[in-house]
Amino acid sequence: MSHDIWALSQAGELDDDDAATQRSPLLDAKVMMVDDEPLMTELIQTHLEDAGYRNFVVTHDPREALDLLRREEVGVLLLDLMMPQMSGFDLLQAIRADRDLRYTPVIVLTATTGADAKLRALQLGATDFLSKPVDASELGLRVRNTLAYHQYHKRQANLDGVTGLPNQRLFDRGLAQMVANGARVRGLLAHFSITVPECLHLRESLGQGSADELTKVLARRLEKFATDESVATPMVTPVEQAPRTARLAADQFGLLIEGIASPRDVEALAQRLVAMLAAPVTVGQHDIHGSAWVGIALSPTDGIGVEALRKGADLAARQAQQRGMVRYQFASADLNAQSLRKMTLGLQLRGAAGRGELELHYQPKLSVVGNRMVGCEALVRWNHPEHGLMPPGEFIFLAEELGLICEIGTWVMGSACREAAAWAARGLGHLKVAVNVSKRQFQRGDLCACVQETLRVSGLAADQLVLELTESMLMDDVAGGLELMHALTRLGVTLSIDDFGTGYSSLNYLKHFPLSELKIDRSFITDLPGSAADVAIVRAIIDLGHNLGMSVVAEGIETTAQLACLQQFDCDHYQGYLYSKPLPAAKFAALLADCDRMPVAAPHPALTGQA
Ligand code: C2E
Ligand code: MG
Ligand code: MG
Repeated sequence: MSHDIWALSQAGELDDDDAATQRSPLLDAKVMMVDDEPLMTELIQTHLEDAGYRNFVVTHDPREALDLLRREEVGVLLLDLMMPQMSGFDLLQAIRADRDLRYTPVIVLTATTGADAKLRALQLGATDFLSKPVDASELGLRVRNTLAYHQYHKRQANLDGVTGLPNQRLFDRGLAQMVANGARVRGLLAHFSITVPECLHLRESLGQGSADELTKVLARRLEKFATDESVATPMVTPVEQAPRTARLAADQFGLLIEGIASPRDVEALAQRLVAMLAAPVTVGQHDIHGSAWVGIALSPTDGIGVEALRKGADLAARQAQQRGMVRYQFASADLNAQSLRKMTLGLQLRGAAGRGELELHYQPKLSVVGNRMVGCEALVRWNHPEHGLMPPGEFIFLAEELGLICEIGTWVMGSACREAAAWAARGLGHLKVAVNVSKRQFQRGDLCACVQETLRVSGLAADQLVLELTESMLMDDVAGGLELMHALTRLGVTLSIDDFGTGYSSLNYLKHFPLSELKIDRSFITDLPGSAADVAIVRAIIDLGHNLGMSVVAEGIETTAQLACLQQFDCDHYQGYLYSKPLPAAKFAALLADCDRMPVAAPHPALTGQA
């Protein structure tokens, strides 16, 4: 290898800071040594440390070498040929046959002066030779040249020749890293595919030189945009050194931005991007407008793989260009107002509990006979900064999809227990409070510990807490569910089956579950007493519940006629707007205080004929 290549590539490898201190970044490369003689590796390491190298991987057993090479990013391998466990030739052959390792630079160390061994090593793909005993300056020179040569080729293979931007290969690697990093960061990763047709047109009209000039200016603008503080979001710890910009084809660039709060922010970035690229570029005598078409794919929403994101963004850019109306387009065909809102909500829901945006409303549960308050159900609401108070139907499914339901469920349980304990402390009675448990919470394996801890912290008596489970979560894993239910009841809490009749309970299993309460779903109540079918179903469910030793609650009682029906069928308890909608904690506490003054909860006016 000639020294010219070293000088040439070294110049290319030094940036301004390095040049000032004259420390070559090549010195940071990892040098690996495979030699059975510890003395030899120590000696070589000492020589190389003197030359400024500081990263070493050493093994005296060549059989470990392939694994090490795969794990460590090795810049150069110094390989002994004569080793008892495995010869250097064999290892070299294995390296060259390995798809991922085949380009590793290998300097062969040989004690023999004969040409045969050298020739054989050369044929097997050795990059260079060193004779033992090694000469310090010779060693330094060979290692440096080999590293420089390798780096030079790596650069050539990864960078676009005109702009110096990363090429598709390097960009895809960066994208893969960012996608992997995405699991740990908040926000969206946006992949912009940017087509500038002018780059091709100019080549046809003014020639390649002019096209290159335009392309270079656009590349610099793109780089500036990607590192602009108002674009680079502080929400994430960026993936170090991952390329953010690339030239993907003669008329195409790529841009990656991570940690974006909402699709609306992505849209704002796309608008800025289009405006920035459209500013005129002077090429020779001409002012050229590099008008761009931008396609945008978002991770994780448009797919999580590099391939899916790339294809999605490219296709969207083409569609934008074909339609010719708006300069940018999202990859998801249905990224309309509704899904945009859904995605935005999902991002905002993260940490909503921590920001104090969630609150609980409490709906009284009453005895059908006597209208006594026997408990309440805690129902979560999201006090959204823009949309106001949102019912759970608008965000619980999102929390489930995004894996946030356990965090929310834990908050709900903690808050409900704390508030119920506070009411008890104020002398408002030993009221039972029910919380809804989601499937994920039930399946996660820490529900028992969570309940125990919540009771301990809140000071609420265990018999005051009711957990509402649903049929589907019990039927999915009967054995596991049964064990968990027994563990929960051992803690002293009560279990209830919610929305009964909407799932697929096996009655055979139901009889084994330690459930104390069964709640009839509102859908069977709505048409009472008019619907003969519903009358029959509700009657049957009440009987079933009683026969299995459960108390039965009817949900969604809105009329006195419905309540009269329940009275007739011997239903135990009810919840519904007839008596009260779910109330904010303070209002519910006031209602409790009223009930406390009157031993029987004030009956609904309709029931007393005062309505
Ligand atoms: P659910 O547990 O069956 O709760 C009863 C729902 O029926 C509540 O709706 C309640 O406001 C409503 N409701 C009660 N009485 C009447 C009535 O007379 N008429 C009508 N039309 N509706 C009535 P909400 O609060 O919107 O909650 C809906 C569902 O969201 C709940 O159904 C429950 O499945 C879920 N949910 C609520 N809070 C939580 C929570 O903290 N965690 C989980 N995982 N789910 C929750
Ligand atoms: Mg419920
Ligand atoms: Mg229900």
